[in-house]
Amino acid sequence: MTNQNLLTFLCKKHKVPPPYVKYVDRPHWDDEVEGYYVPKVHILCIWKGAEDKELVLAHEFHHYVDEVKGDLLQRLEKRLSTEDGVHQRAVRDLKEFRAAS
Ligand SMILES: [Zn+2]
Repeated sequence: MTNQNLLTFLCKKHKVPPPYVKYVDRPHWDDEVEGYYVPKVHILCIWKGAEDKELVLAHEFHHYVDEVKGDLLQRLEKRLSTEDGVHQRAVRDLKEFRAAS
């Protein structure tokens, strides 16, 4: 349950150091959420029961990228850090990853 290849792929593509990934029980504060990102400490938390863990990983990864590269990007293009933007980039990257592997 590591998804190490996907993580390596994403880090290489976006040129960022690898974040931590933790598989956690469903957060008690939200019934919908399948993962979340912890800023500053760079931890991607993924719910153990998530249907598509790779997609959740890619999604939370983009929150991480936004934080690491955030300042400049957000100033240039605010929409990039919206949930929609994060999700679209996650779907695109996952497609790329699955086509390549
Ligand atoms: Zn999100």
